[in-house]
Amino acid sequence: MMAYNLKLIEADDLKVFLIGSGGPMNNDVRIAPCIAVIAEGEYFLVDVGPGTYRVADVMRLPAPRLSKILLTHFHSDHIGDLGEANMMSWAMGREKVIEIYGPEGVEKVVNGFIMAYELDTGYRIAHHGAETLLPEASTPISRTIKFDDPGERVVVFEKNELKVYAFVVDHSPVKPAVGYRIEHKGNVVVITGDTVKTDNLIKHCKDADILFTEAISFDMLNNMIEGFKRNNLTRLAKIMTDVQDYHMQPIDAAEVAKEAGIKKLVYVHVTPALPNEAVEKRYLQGVSDIFDGAVILGKDRMKFRLKPKH
Ligand SMILES: [Zn+2]
Ligand SMILES: [Zn+2]
Repeated sequence: MMAYNLKLIEADDLKVFLIGSGGPMNNDVRIAPCIAVIAEGEYFLVDVGPGTYRVADVMRLPAPRLSKILLTHFHSDHIGDLGEANMMSWAMGREKVIEIYGPEGVEKVVNGFIMAYELDTGYRIAHHGAETLLPEASTPISRTIKFDDPGERVVVFEKNELKVYAFVVDHSPVKPAVGYRIEHKGNVVVITGDTVKTDNLIKHCKDADILFTEAISFDMLNNMIEGFKRNNLTRLAKIMTDVQDYHMQPIDAAEVAKEAGIKKLVYVHVTPALPNEAVEKRYLQGVSDIFDGAVILGKDRMKFRLKPKH
């Protein structure tokens, strides 16, 4: 049985755990997107891609206290472990219902997972008893984030000095898609979700202490595409070309960071996989010419701690 670090949740700071730093393509280096946040006694996840919940547990994050999951959009690399996160935190003693936030469509996604896990939920209550596995905590609730004005951010939830906002990003044809801005005791952390560079993104990243940004190296992708074409893998070549429509490349994210006045830029959703230092350099090529703040190439299980500024 896992010993959870419940002390994590009592501190007065803002903690961010980069659980998965990769994108949709499976590889040995990085798993799918998932970032855990702990502040003001709240433990929540932003995206929960396939295979990520297992790592949250292995990192001893306080499963019984998981209260919310915030989804940026509904591509499978961002939602695959939704059922596991709900089921396993409940099995480990969670006593309150998890709220799952996302843009329009979240209800459909959540209802699908509820249906898929319904039989297992019943087995576990029957086997361990309703005092051990509380039926009222088993089934998550979906909460749809709506925007009256797509240029303004909306409050997703707040608790004491923690305030979490959502803003609209552009990942067309995936619509709607959002990013999240987290404010706590003078610190600001922004998670872009999947998007191209937009003025609205820059607006809502403004003056963040840490920006967790998606980025795909088009340069490296194009190299792969050439290889695919030489080998008549036209289908793969097409997909690798299409994905460049709705993502940023590392230098685009560097421009966002520069224009928004970011202090620290952390690359996540890192694609393609970067198996060694030489290719890591290539992924980051040109970034420091644009942005002169701190740059971190995100790796799975990195931890960030932001001490209160007031
Ligand atoms: Zn993605
Ligand atoms: Zn996506």
